[in-house]
Amino acid sequence: MSNPFEALGLPAELVAVTQELGYEAPTAIQTAAIPPLLAGRDLIGRSKTGSGKTAAFGLPMLAQVDLNKRSLQGLVLCPTRELAGQVMRELRKLGRRHPGLVVAELIGGQPKRRQRELLERGVHLAVGTPGRLLDHLDHGALDPRGLRTVVLDEADRMLDMGFEEEVSSVLKHLPRTRQTALFSATMPERIEVLARQHQHNAVRVEGDEPSASGEAPTPHGAPDLPVGIRQLYVVPERGAELHALCAVLAKFPHESALVFCNFKASVAEVVALLSEAGLSVDRLDGDLDQFERDRVLVRFRNGSLRLLVATDVAGRGLDIEGLDLVVNLELPQDPSAYVHRIGRTGRAGRDGVAVSIARGAHGGTDRRLTDVEELTGQPIEALALDDPRPQGAVLRSLAREPRMATIQIAGGRRDKLRAGDLLGALTGEAGLEGDEVGRIDLRDKVTFVAVARQRAVAAAKALDQGRIKKRRFRATLLGRPAGSRGPAPGYRDPGGGPR
Ligand code: AMP
Repeated sequence: MSNPFEALGLPAELVAVTQELGYEAPTAIQTAAIPPLLAGRDLIGRSKTGSGKTAAFGLPMLAQVDLNKRSLQGLVLCPTRELAGQVMRELRKLGRRHPGLVVAELIGGQPKRRQRELLERGVHLAVGTPGRLLDHLDHGALDPRGLRTVVLDEADRMLDMGFEEEVSSVLKHLPRTRQTALFSATMPERIEVLARQHQHNAVRVEGDEPSASGEAPTPHGAPDLPVGIRQLYVVPERGAELHALCAVLAKFPHESALVFCNFKASVAEVVALLSEAGLSVDRLDGDLDQFERDRVLVRFRNGSLRLLVATDVAGRGLDIEGLDLVVNLELPQDPSAYVHRIGRTGRAGRDGVAVSIARGAHGGTDRRLTDVEELTGQPIEALALDDPRPQGAVLRSLAREPRMATIQIAGGRRDKLRAGDLLGALTGEAGLEGDEVGRIDLRDKVTFVAVARQRAVAAAKALDQGRIKKRRFRATLLGRPAGSRGPAPGYRDPGGGPR
């Protein structure tokens, strides 16, 4: 038995999938969790995002699914809509050799009626956020009687976000004979309590290799900070917070940066200031509906948007890799939110910078800075901003177009579109070079493609007028066309999106 995935006890078709996806060897959490999960045991897994934990529970779930039964067999609870989306996509990817597999995404912010219709037709697996799942269970739309396995993903974050009651209520709806797996980056007492209440004789497994420095884990259940983040703070004059923000953005060159605010009103203020100066910026706050949110994130991830200004709630669970810079316009009330905020910088081996604007309410340094240092056990360095230029001049120096622009195409997976079809259309008829095409994000009914900004207007036109797989699909450019200084936030392409 030479294949290490086969050695874990996975069936041949799933071993083949791991090969097709280029997984050479199982990760630590996969090695530890797959055998007990296949054996039907309850499990507590300590692991972070990026450790391969989705496959650690997804592969055993798929190994046990009976495609002939159109009933819910596996359920995954996630803290955020973004995470639920990622898990769903990962399950579909891993389920590529399961013909007819239906994975439902049951999250808030999307019409319930459509989710109910899908559930009526029957699904095998479902991924969702606790509130919406509970809603469907309470209304009988989701029938849990055939459920075999439930997974609580990022359980610590679900509790941090106040989902304790919903999670418990969801679990009470499920058959007692089910298998329960819980994954969490940290194991505070509240997680232990949850596990005791809802699991039986659970196996404990550790996913992460011990950190190279051998440092003790951070106290109070805050997630560990990735290494390689330079943490700084500045104390501006009273009323000069926005000026400090601009100076920070100018001081640390970035391809993309995330700015966190404590309030929606501050988000609006920052976005207005930066976009009026011609910067590539948009907002991410609780007022966006799911589609708008998705679209902003797609643009940010694919290099079509350089600055994103977010609140904590909206920013939770974002999986954005390799951010160069995170700025806190203000420190969060809850120090563990700081860790969530800056944990997205410097991923994947790149270094990142996190700067907090930390002026206390009564002058001096914000006392919340000490709380954060105590929580993380890491010092935050003072930074002096010595940019003598007035704010307007600083802002003008920052106005740089992003490298890419996003084209939205009114067709997706359901239209049997694949990334290769779009790449073909763009490099064929539209005449782009391969390296002028960036990320291709396929959704069910819509696709977002990043293309080099200079070529974007022509490419969108060519796609709109041409055919993909012999069919015509409406294609529109999102955001501002190259060189223009139009309004960025809330900009809607004239055709609007689906919905
Ligand atoms: P996750 O921790 O589940 O968010 O997974 C992080 C990423 O690692 C995903 O893009 C997976 O597709 C990928 N991945 C999962 N397992 C493996 C593996 N054994 N080898 C290589 N990549 C993997």
